[in-house]
Amino acid sequence: MKKIFVANFKMNKTNPEVLDYIQELNNHLPESLSSDVCLCLPYTSLCLGKFLDERIAVGAQNMHEEDFGPFTGEISADMLCCLGVKYVIIGHSERRKYFNETNEKINKKIKTALRHGLKVVLCVGETKVQRNSKRTTEILSQQIESALSGIFENELKGIIIAYEPVWAIGTGKVASSEDIEEAVKTIRKLISSHYSKQAAQDQKILYGGSLTSGTAKSILKIDGICGALVGGASLDPNEFIKIIS
Ligand code: PEP
Repeated sequence: MKKIFVANFKMNKTNPEVLDYIQELNNHLPESLSSDVCLCLPYTSLCLGKFLDERIAVGAQNMHEEDFGPFTGEISADMLCCLGVKYVIIGHSERRKYFNETNEKINKKIKTALRHGLKVVLCVGETKVQRNSKRTTEILSQQIESALSGIFENELKGIIIAYEPVWAIGTGKVASSEDIEEAVKTIRKLISSHYSKQAAQDQKILYGGSLTSGTAKSILKIDGICGALVGGASLDPNEFIKIIS
């Protein structure tokens, strides 16, 4: 299976900085790039995606669930599509935590994104407290079952699930191989019981949480991991190139 790497810039980089980044990335991309790569830029920089090497897709970090209307400050799926956006991150833990995104809202966003042909990167993962109280499986089940409620099996090909333990995001703490493997198994089991064995086997699952070029190799070797969602380490184009190469 082709590996997938998704960069999440979060609220970083002005347009001049993004242009410098794109130039550096384009100039140093390996000729033999064999993975799917996507940069999830801030909304204000999505229009610069057209300057990216054609092998790199553009993604957004969020979108609104409604198609249009009186939602001041929000961005719709159509607006993203018009800018050539192909991927959208939905349910990132920072949006769940700081913007009160519920599982129900995430489900609506996924349905809207799929209806517009956007590929969804659905983020799931437990907090430290939840892990310590042995609730990881329960939390993953809740998040995945509600996110995928009403989604048909044939639509799963448009959804990539990113397992991102909240305590590993931006902390420098990477989850252990055993913890990642266990979470991946839980996710596949859920997909298998709600859809089919084939759907579980085909489901693309990424790891996210303090991944760097130093840890990428061993994480990408974990059974069932198809790639990575990279935050902090993606902000340096040369570090990101090392990760995707
Ligand atoms: C993220 O925010 O999705 C993420 C993985 O961040 P970081 O790599 O900085 O932990």
